[in-house]
Amino acid sequence: MKIVFASANKNKIREIQTLMREYLGDGIEVLSLADIGFFDDIEETGETFAENALIKAKVAAGFGYIALADDSGLSVEALDGAPGVYSARYCGHHGSDEENNAKLLNELKGVSHRNAAYICAIACAFPDGREPIITMGDVQGEILVSPRGKGGFGYDPLFWYDPYGKTFAEITAEEKNAISHRAKAVARMCANLAPIIKEYESK
Ligand code: IMP
Repeated sequence: MKIVFASANKNKIREIQTLMREYLGDGIEVLSLADIGFFDDIEETGETFAENALIKAKVAAGFGYIALADDSGLSVEALDGAPGVYSARYCGHHGSDEENNAKLLNELKGVSHRNAAYICAIACAFPDGREPIITMGDVQGEILVSPRGKGGFGYDPLFWYDPYGKTFAEITAEEKNAISHRAKAVARMCANLAPIIKEYESK
């Protein structure tokens, strides 16, 4: 069963395929947009993670596949949910992680309430036009006053995860996959998709 994941990021495609095979079996093959001959950018014009994920999934489903897409980011309570859907471009342009982290630290200067969450939305759109599915996942943490650790990406060196007593830049990929926003959203999506994939396979 071929499913498209609307991303050009090969690492993400591999990670999603691994997670989906755990839930749905080894028959699942996850294709990238490049694999189906789509090389354009899809503009993320939504105001929520779910809207952006759905925009991308619908484009890919237009090629005749069951199609998934995700959108994720950091939501900081004291900043009314910012950087939110602007997480990748918080510093003003599609920026480097360092610039985004510097901007975040600046915005939180002198702020003691530093609760935050990573949030992920996954959308699934279908070629037969049935109602799309959206699932969400989140993981709660706190924003440190200075970075710690060399792993991960994005805001990970600032994202303190108390149950591990480490930042997300100090944990292994396996530790992150066990509790991450993306892994939770994927698990929920797979639970929804299992019966639908059986139905498609029996056609
Ligand atoms: P995307 O949904 O994968 O495009 O991620 C959007 C942005 O959210 C990234 O560029 C990061 O700034 C931030 N982000 C999302 N997930 C994570 C994560 O697990 N760690 C660190 N930053 C993340």
